[in-house]
Amino acid sequence: MSKKHNKKRPVTRSERIKAKATSLNENGHGMIKYQGKSVPVPFLLAGEEALLDLEKVGKHYQSTIQSVIKRSPDRVSPTCPYYYSCGGCQLQHLDYKKQGKLKENQVKGLLPKKKVDPIILMKEPYYYRNKVIASVATQNKKLITGFYKPFSHEVVAIDHCEVQMPQADKILKTLRSLCSKHKIQAYNEDTQNGFLRHILLKMGHKTDEVLVTFVVASKVFPSKAKLLKDLKEAHPEIKSITMNINNRKTSVVLGKEEIILHGDGKIKDNLCGYDFKISSQSFYQINPVQTEKLYQTAMDLAQIKKDEVVLDTYSGIGTISIIATKHAKMVYGVELNKEAVKDANHNAKLNKINNIKFVQADATHAMVQMAKERFHIDVLFLDPPREGSTPEFINAALKLKPKKIVYISCNPYTLARDLKLFEKAYKVERVVPVDMFPHTSHVECISRLVRKEKK
Ligand code: SAH
Repeated sequence: MSKKHNKKRPVTRSERIKAKATSLNENGHGMIKYQGKSVPVPFLLAGEEALLDLEKVGKHYQSTIQSVIKRSPDRVSPTCPYYYSCGGCQLQHLDYKKQGKLKENQVKGLLPKKKVDPIILMKEPYYYRNKVIASVATQNKKLITGFYKPFSHEVVAIDHCEVQMPQADKILKTLRSLCSKHKIQAYNEDTQNGFLRHILLKMGHKTDEVLVTFVVASKVFPSKAKLLKDLKEAHPEIKSITMNINNRKTSVVLGKEEIILHGDGKIKDNLCGYDFKISSQSFYQINPVQTEKLYQTAMDLAQIKKDEVVLDTYSGIGTISIIATKHAKMVYGVELNKEAVKDANHNAKLNKINNIKFVQADATHAMVQMAKERFHIDVLFLDPPREGSTPEFINAALKLKPKKIVYISCNPYTLARDLKLFEKAYKVERVVPVDMFPHTSHVECISRLVRKEKK
């Protein structure tokens, strides 16, 4: 949850050129050649020719399209009016099916090509995000909410977003007007004055329940009672409200301290037939429609048998573990974040599940320990953050010798790196890309590995 600070560096040279993009890079930028160097051009598609302004900033070039001279047949007009200034999406100007091809080819370029399945696209790739972090600022003496411009800390005022669940627009509109009614000040990063920094919304897709988290610079919440009363009246679907205190000069959104102002600080949602309680601090997949497909595919690839023991590492609030209990004898979940483990234990109880145990630990540490104790597991799931797993984790996994491994990853680069290490003893049988983040350049993959037969 960090936003890049980009200190303005002096522009040393600026030039207008005509250039053609030969391919797209992993960020969805068109790649052109300029004086022997590859330069990425945002919003330019492969095969397109354009008139560009190039600025040399430090060692790199920054480019802005002046006009597209030759258009790609894959170019579409983004329906979002903020698309070119917001930065949240990178691929809205590319036909959705072609976005899928781009991601699929990216995965094929990094992983065993023949093993890669067609990408699982979203039927209706809009209004999917169940989590919104709106930044708050003052513009023309008015409180605005929106997102940072790319590579800056300037907030773009946004009152409609096409990738987040529609309820978010309505709640943020109410909040802008309530903040002005109750004279709540936006926080100013430069002067470090003011109060409200961000508004975090988490929304249950199946339940419509909403959690509102005010990220604030101090505990003194002006007109708190009146504002909360108005907010709850306007939106009875808001089941929980929390105040998260972040008074540090940082681009990280959430602070450590959180106070519950309404409800139990959580909301409920349902995935694959199981209920899950979600809090502001713990990880929950942001596209619930695609998450059900992701988890179903993960279960299909794992082919868990009734007498098998499953280990789910990087288990978050226990979603994959809980879904796996239906198929397995016993499931163990390992997760570092304390709040997430609390949620996971609560979720196991909520769903009346007994063949499950969660451990709060660093996944690598836990794996090394289990390998020492010769712990028996049949199926291993791992779903690490973008950085991927560690060589020590993978070595321990090789010692634990599970028959099958299902690796879920949101970063094909670290997945490719890690699979190389697994390939000492495992064969990559299938890789299924899933589009969890339509219109952005991100891609999620599930891969199934099976133990190589001993020669
Ligand atoms: N499988 C879950 C969560 C995946 S996100 C789901 O589908 O919802 C990755 C999770 O890894 C996060 O919950 C994060 O808190 C956890 N994590 C990050 N570093 C970790 C580590 N070193 N050891 C264990 N868990 C870690």
